[in-house]
Amino acid sequence: MATQHIIIGGGPAATNAIESIREFGGDEPSIILISDEPAHSRMALPYWLAGKIPEKHTHTADDAYFQKLNVDARIGTRVSQVDPANNSITLDDGSQLEFEKLLIATGSSPVNPPVSGTDLPGVQPLWSLADTQSVLDATASLEKPHVVLVGAGFIGFIVLNAMFKRHWDLTVVERESQVLPRMLDRDGASCVEAHLSKLGIGVHTGVSVQKIQEADGGGKTVELENGTQLSADMVILATGIQANLGLIENSGIETDQAILVNDQMQTNFPNIYAAGDVAQGPILYNDQPQIHAIQTTAVDHGRVAGANMAGHEVHYPGSLLMNVADVCGLQTASFGNWNDSQAHNMTIHNSDENIYRKLLWTGDQITGAIFTGYANDVGMLTDIGMVKGILQTHTSLGKWKAFLEENPFDIRRAYIGAGVAQKLIGVTLTGQASRPRGFHFDGTTPKAKVSAAHATFMETM
Ligand SMILES: Cc1cc2nc3c(=O)[nH]c(=O)nc-3n(C[C@H](O)[C@H](O)[C@H](O)COP(=O)(O)OP(=O)(O)OC[C@H]3O[C@@H](n4cnc5c(N)ncnc54)[C@H](O)[C@@H]3O)c2cc1C
Repeated sequence: MATQHIIIGGGPAATNAIESIREFGGDEPSIILISDEPAHSRMALPYWLAGKIPEKHTHTADDAYFQKLNVDARIGTRVSQVDPANNSITLDDGSQLEFEKLLIATGSSPVNPPVSGTDLPGVQPLWSLADTQSVLDATASLEKPHVVLVGAGFIGFIVLNAMFKRHWDLTVVERESQVLPRMLDRDGASCVEAHLSKLGIGVHTGVSVQKIQEADGGGKTVELENGTQLSADMVILATGIQANLGLIENSGIETDQAILVNDQMQTNFPNIYAAGDVAQGPILYNDQPQIHAIQTTAVDHGRVAGANMAGHEVHYPGSLLMNVADVCGLQTASFGNWNDSQAHNMTIHNSDENIYRKLLWTGDQITGAIFTGYANDVGMLTDIGMVKGILQTHTSLGKWKAFLEENPFDIRRAYIGAGVAQKLIGVTLTGQASRPRGFHFDGTTPKAKVSAAHATFMETM
């Protein structure tokens, strides 16, 4: 009899797992997908908010695509309980389904700050399709909406960038003493703050919101604990997230801040897997499992979980802590152990140009990095990619360490000289070269072909 796989969630972890199951397991296992939202990519929502793409382009799979993959997709359905003892799940309508293998890929949800007024209309996070639609509706009739963003973290600043592209009037409030506190150190953050100030975006750091109220004459008043009052048409909350664990309460599935998984994405129940934001798993440059709530980790987790669920044993080397954000034109990135106070570091800071680079070293290996700078600086974006490759391959740079000390902007030479590109070629997560994924709706496929040179390079010809 065919194995019954159930996948909970419709984000990148779930859809990549499904593709992996079909890639390695063929048509054999039956797959049921349960998701309360349509399959989509949250990281595409800011592009929709910015007016760069229609809503449809945030979706990652439609009915036709699920049919093609032979998936029984039950969109708009929620799972309320997972029962590992009986290998079953309970849906919101009380019905039950049995599984042989289960993937929990339920993602995470925003957490609002504990202040009054967060439940007012016009005060909301930007996390879901519905949230994005509601911001677009609320601002549609306003010529230049004034938005106060509460929380200057990675997600908040991606949303800020989208609103900046709309030319909205923007103010940011951050409780910590600097912007991007979990992504940049003080010097990196000072480049971002200077850049925002030049653009006329108000930044209030080191101060919490006390309350949010309806303002006389419409709009909102955001009162800060130092007495400052900010007026706003809308308030966007971006003050943190937590893993969606409600459905596994009292199930015996082991958790810390999220579901603990091994390097095959298995929980403490070998036939139950978890992936993406809801999973706390192996990471590079640290022995302790962590949550890396980013799209790339969700994709990797999904592919590894799917391969293992299909019986193709794959061990995940671990996710790389990686945040890359365009902050209203200033590129920012950090990788790995960027805040390791024990590491030897090489730093360059040009505060006039908002350029900042920090490479953190353990012996002759780069174990963390921070970048800020403009995309039109020669090499800025390629250097970010190359440092990521150096970290992913754990390359010992040997004599190139001294070279980088002298020539910190010549990462390319160290990357090539130490053979990082050669190491990356042939490294694939699941042991097979990745395939073009194609568009997932209307049966359309991308027009751009993979060039022969690329295919030769990747040994896929
Ligand atoms: C605005 C925004 C911008 C972002 N930008 C970036 C970026 O630039 N780069 C980056 O790397 N990351 C970005 N992220 C983070 C990234 O989107 C997430 O890390 C990623 O979506 C996690 O994927 P996932 O599959 O684990 O979970 P999700 O994408 O959250 O998908 C989980 C799905 O499961 C559904 N679900 C939950 N509980 C149940 C249940 N009980 N029953 C049925 N269905 C359920 C949810 O509704 C959801 O549809 C961004 C996130 C947001 C919100």
